[in-house]
Amino acid sequence: MTKRIIIIGGGYVGVQLARALDDKAEVTLIEPRSHFVHAPAMIRSVVDPQVLDQGLIPYDDLLKNGQVVRARAKSVSAAGVTLEDGTEVLGDYIVVATGSDNAMPFKPANDSIEAFRADSARIHAMLEAAQSVAIVGAGAVGTELAGEIAHFMPDKKVTLLSSEPSLFPTMPSKLGTALQGKLNNAGVTTIFGARAENLESMTEPYAGELQLSNGDRIAADLIFPVIGSRARSTIFETLPGITKGAANRVKTDPWLRPSDLPNVFAAGDVAEAGDAMTIVAVSRQTPWMEKMLTSLINGKKVEEMAKYKPWSKAPFLVPLGPQKGNSYLVIFTAGDTITRLMKGKDLFVPRYRKMLNRT
Ligand SMILES: Cc1cc2nc3c(=O)[nH]c(=O)nc-3n(C[C@H](O)[C@H](O)[C@H](O)COP(=O)(O)OP(=O)(O)OC[C@H]3O[C@@H](n4cnc5c(N)ncnc54)[C@H](O)[C@@H]3O)c2cc1C
Repeated sequence: MTKRIIIIGGGYVGVQLARALDDKAEVTLIEPRSHFVHAPAMIRSVVDPQVLDQGLIPYDDLLKNGQVVRARAKSVSAAGVTLEDGTEVLGDYIVVATGSDNAMPFKPANDSIEAFRADSARIHAMLEAAQSVAIVGAGAVGTELAGEIAHFMPDKKVTLLSSEPSLFPTMPSKLGTALQGKLNNAGVTTIFGARAENLESMTEPYAGELQLSNGDRIAADLIFPVIGSRARSTIFETLPGITKGAANRVKTDPWLRPSDLPNVFAAGDVAEAGDAMTIVAVSRQTPWMEKMLTSLINGKKVEEMAKYKPWSKAPFLVPLGPQKGNSYLVIFTAGDTITRLMKGKDLFVPRYRKMLNRT
């Protein structure tokens, strides 16, 4: 009998896995939003609103055989998934890929894509009107945002603030040094080792004044809080044997199982499996998950399968607008040309439009 696979969440894990298993099992993808949100494009959308529509991709054409159920999952059991309206969806294997939240306008605040479009347009207008911009948090998103504003809106006074001692201190120092040099040359002020003590909002940009831990104050017409993602893991709370790690992620066993239930798996941002919260991590976890689920469908047992091995060193690409940037590619650090060709130019948009069968 055909096995039933339920995937909760149509982000990078959900879309890639559902598509890969569509002709091998009876796939149900549960996702409350009408469109896939391609996160890398959301940064450029803040400065160039035309990019937004390219990065919001409808789910309508994703599956040929399986179904996308437009709903929010409320709980999981060994038998399947209960939706918020009480409907039960039965399955043999369940993959939870509910991802993470981030501040606006980088990820939607709720399930309405129309509301997200309106929020994105509102924040773009705020940015256009602002003369000074402070970005709190110099992870990849904050750094890329600084680079995009410097490229597309060179007249803005941009300050990038980090509580870390330097840019990307856990990566080879060449990467952070090169990116910082390019940002400074483009007029961005970088401040390290100082924490914003009085962030008024963690979820959306606002005008105000930052009090820094070093005693300084920065007034800005627009302050972007960019302090990282938090996993959406409440769905696990009723499952036996769950342990949460950093950023609300759930810890998994070596076969990406987060609880005592042997047929419930987790991947992507929600799962703490030894990888960072990145699409790069998903690009390793999802093929592994596909292979494992295919073997289970064919009668193998989970423990007979090779364990998942996270990236030991993962590639990391940081464009600063469409032309410049640097990338850590494990065996070497690349500059503008490679970063532009690999990511900065199109932000992987064509790849994900193709994955959702939208060209
Ligand atoms: C602005 C930005 C830019 C980024 N750029 C990069 C990059 O360039 N490279 C890189 O490697 N990483 C990047 N990342 C990180 C990357 O976006 C995440 O690692 C990735 O989104 C994780 O994929 P996911 O499938 O785990 O979850 P998500 O993409 O977060 O998707 C989760 C999905 O689950 C759905 N969902 C949530 N709860 C439920 C529920 N209860 N029921 C049903 N569905 C539910 C959500 O609606 C969502 O569609 C970026 C992140 C941000 C915020």
